[in-house]
Amino acid sequence: MVVRMRHTRAHTANRRSHHAIKATLMTTCENCGAKNLNHTICKYCGFYKGRNVMNKLAKVEKSQAKAKKTSAK
Ligand SMILES: [Zn+2]
Repeated sequence: MVVRMRHTRAHTANRRSHHAIKATLMTTCENCGAKNLNHTICKYCGFYKGRNVMNKLAKVEKSQAKAKKTSAK
């Protein structure tokens, strides 16, 4: 909607009453207790709704093995 004509201060304030920023919703992980964004898996342990969705341990081990391999050369 285009604001065509001058509005009163009250009219402007009424419109802007909905412009406040809301705090981001955070949930605590059921597995490790870390704070995470809603509807996303835990970035620390890979759990979602108490279920292991992503094997984080295997990923960490893989990256460590790769780092070892590259540093050995
Ligand atoms: Zn977790």
